Amino acid sequence: MKTDKKTLAALIVSAALLVCAAALAIFELLAPAPEAMAGPPEESDSVTIELFAVGDNLMHGPLIKSGLGAEGYNFDGFYEHILPQLEGMDIKAINQETVFVSPDMGYTGYPTFGGPAEVGDALVKAGFNVIEQASNHSYDKREEGLRFTMDYWRSQPVTLLGVNSSAEDALRVDKFTKDGFTVALANYTYSLNGLAPPQGEEYLVNMMDDEARPAIAEQLARAKAESDLLVVFPHWGTEYDTEPDDFQRDWLKFFNENGADVIIGAHPHVLQTAEEYIGENGHKTVVFYSLGNFISNQDTLAKELGGMARVTLVKDDFGARVRDFSLEPCFTHVSGGKYTVYPLEDYTDELARTHSKLGGLTVQAIYDEFYRITGFETGKFRPERTPLTQPPAEERNIE
Ligand SMILES: [Zn+2]
Repeated sequence: MKTDKKTLAALIVSAALLVCAAALAIFELLAPAPEAMAGPPEESDSVTIELFAVGDNLMHGPLIKSGLGAEGYNFDGFYEHILPQLEGMDIKAINQETVFVSPDMGYTGYPTFGGPAEVGDALVKAGFNVIEQASNHSYDKREEGLRFTMDYWRSQPVTLLGVNSSAEDALRVDKFTKDGFTVALANYTYSLNGLAPPQGEEYLVNMMDDEARPAIAEQLARAKAESDLLVVFPHWGTEYDTEPDDFQRDWLKFFNENGADVIIGAHPHVLQTAEEYIGENGHKTVVFYSLGNFISNQDTLAKELGGMARVTLVKDDFGARVRDFSLEPCFTHVSGGKYTVYPLEDYTDELARTHSKLGGLTVQAIYDEFYRITGFETGKFRPERTPLTQPPAEERNIE
């Protein structure tokens, strides 16, 4: 398999005489791939799990109304432009900020939300398969609304996180498995907006407060024992603040110390940045502090801007790890009483001109806001995948 050095040199010299593009192409063909030089095992069984996540699915009254047609409720239009983004993804997660209620309970928006389950039908149809349901609005419609929501999701092909139908159910470990590679998934909320389940039914929603720390640590230890990697979805942060707050940093440290490999945050209704956090113990956690709103009736540029997180998780002979991550912008478009989310790369100035809540908007202005918030100085419309700062040893020893 080895190329004779003289032959290689001669080829490179002659290639240098060609035009630049041709020379590069020939060299790439002749040069051994880095993997071949590093000499990894001949038979390395590698499994990859692609994780995709978006932010707050926030069902304000006008959004509910927009889905009502002659045939009843249908919300497929919310997500139709996002469908290509989900292709090839394994874990497809969304923060379902609000609960669903039965039609006879009546649908309401802000401040105590309860929407139609047809919103869930649209999410399932779009391909979302992991639902974060622990939020400060989980208990807006009390036990009846929450149990209706749990019953609905459990009739669907999704993994429901953060809420529990019994004390026993609250002990379960939620997992996603592909070809022997298991990722544990956990979801907690900082608050229920001053409401609380009745005594004896505190299990209904996974809370993250100081009192709950020992129980969370115990639950995460079990999750770690039953999986290869751990992803935590905390509902945390300060609303409308594009900077992570002390509560988020404190709980990031806690989740990192308890083995979280990835953290994907929700709740502030605006985007915050993403980074790799390395704890004092050396454990690395990729954290997306907040993915902002996915779809809502909120009406400033920052609240219409959301993030699409992608994380590549791998398991091979060297173990399981996070390989890389990226964060790309998406944007809620509202026009003529209809709501829909676009990947920002597909949004146009022409569409922006018809946005009924934001006048004088340009796509460049939205990108500027994305770069301002994230601090990603890529200078490109589509940020490159962000490799981890320190790849595993076997990937560093490439000569
Ligand atoms: Zn929230």
